[in-house]
Amino acid sequence: MILRRKTRQVVLGDDAHGFVRIGGDAPVSVQSMTAGYTHDIDACVAEIHKLAAAGADVVRVAVPEKKDTAALKEILPQVSVPIVADVHFHFQRALEAIEAGVHKIRLNPGNISDRAQVKDVIQACKARKLPIRIGVNEGSIIERKDKQKRLKELGGVFSDNKHGHFLAIMITKLEEYLDVFREEDFHDIVISAKSIDPLLVIDAYKAISERFDYPLHLGVTHAGPKETGTIRSVVPLGHLLASGIGDTVRISYANDPVYEVQDGLELMYILGLRVRKGAELIACPSCGRIQVDLFKLVQDVRKQLEKEITLPIKVAVMGCVVNGPGEAEGADVAIFAGDRKGIIYVQGERVANVPEADILPTLLAECRKFQDRVARGEAKLGEKKVDILPPDPIGEIGSGWEKIQREKKGMGLPVVKV
Ligand code: SF4
Repeated sequence: MILRRKTRQVVLGDDAHGFVRIGGDAPVSVQSMTAGYTHDIDACVAEIHKLAAAGADVVRVAVPEKKDTAALKEILPQVSVPIVADVHFHFQRALEAIEAGVHKIRLNPGNISDRAQVKDVIQACKARKLPIRIGVNEGSIIERKDKQKRLKELGGVFSDNKHGHFLAIMITKLEEYLDVFREEDFHDIVISAKSIDPLLVIDAYKAISERFDYPLHLGVTHAGPKETGTIRSVVPLGHLLASGIGDTVRISYANDPVYEVQDGLELMYILGLRVRKGAELIACPSCGRIQVDLFKLVQDVRKQLEKEITLPIKVAVMGCVVNGPGEAEGADVAIFAGDRKGIIYVQGERVANVPEADILPTLLAECRKFQDRVARGEAKLGEKKVDILPPDPIGEIGSGWEKIQREKKGMGLPVVKV
C-alpha cells in the first residue's frame, strides 16, 4: 500500500457540477484539458462531456481571449464536472472566468507576474472560495519581460547544468509567487512543476513536496504523441505516486485527450490509488506456441469489456496452457487458447471448450453472467474458489502439448506425464 504524503486539501465544484477534493485524504483525481476552442461552445461542451464520460474528475479549458471567457457562461450550465480556466498573459481573463462561474483558476508566474494583478485574482478567488493552481512549468518559467533577467536565465538553460538551473528557477519563482499569496492569506493552492524532462519532473516535485504542504498537480508537459508520451509521462508520475507524492494528475498527449484520462485512471488503478471501474484485462504477449489469433482476440475482448462490463472483473486471455494458468491465477474469468480452440474458466471452474470463432462471444457471455452473479451477491470478485489447473490438452484443446513437451526436453525441464 502506498503511504501518501499529507497535504492540505482544496475543494472545487458546486452542487451542479459535483465537488472534487484535491489533497488531504482525497483520492488522486484525474484531469484533462479540452483540445478545441472554448469559444466554439457546442464543440467545447461535447468535448467536456466526452472527457467526463471517460472518467475525468476535472476538465480544464483554455481562455486566451475574451470570447472564450464569455463562452464559459453558456458552457458551464451544460456540463457536469468542475471546470478549470487556464489563464495565460491576461489577468483580466482570470477575473472574467471567475465571474463566469469556473471552479478553479490556473496561473503561471512566468506569464502573470505583476503583484497587483495577481492580488486582484487572489481576492476574486477568495470571495468565491475558488482554489488557484500555480504552475511553475519549464515551458514558461523563463522571464519574458525583463530582457536582462531573461538573458541571464536563458544562459543557464544552455549551460552544462540545465537540470539544476531549471530546478533552481522553478523553486525560486514558486517561493516568490507564494509570497504574494501569503500576503493575501490565501492558501487554497495547488502547485504544479511540469517539464518535458522526466528526471526534472521527479526532482522538482520532490523538492516542492519537501518545502510545502500544498497539494500537487502532477504532469509532464508537452510529452508528445501517445506512442512515446506514455512512457515519458508514466515513468516520472508513477515514480512520484508510488513514493506518495501527488494529489491530482494530468497526462498530456498530442492526441485525443480521452487517452489522457484513460491512461491516468489506469495508472491510479495499477498503483491501487483508485478503485477500478470496469473490467481489468490481463493477456499474455503471445509467442511461438500460439495457435489462435491472440492479438485480435485481446483487442476484441478489450473493446467489448469496455462497453459491457462495469464491475472490476479480472479477465485473462492467455495463449496456451504453458504459462497461462499460473499467470491467470486470480482472474475471475480466463480463457486458455489451444489449437484453434479455447477453454474458458470462471473462478477456476471450467465452463466451456469452444472453437476459436466462439471464444469471444462465449467469454463475454461468461463475463456478463459472472457480473450478474456478483451483482446478486452470489459470487465475489477475486475469490478464487478452485485452483486454475492446466486443462488436459489431449483430445480436449489440442494445445500443441507434444510441441511443448519437446521444448521442455530440449531445455532440460521436467517432462509432465500425460
Ligand atoms: S501463455 Fe503461452 S502463448 Fe502466451 S506467451 Fe505464455 S507460453 Fe506463449
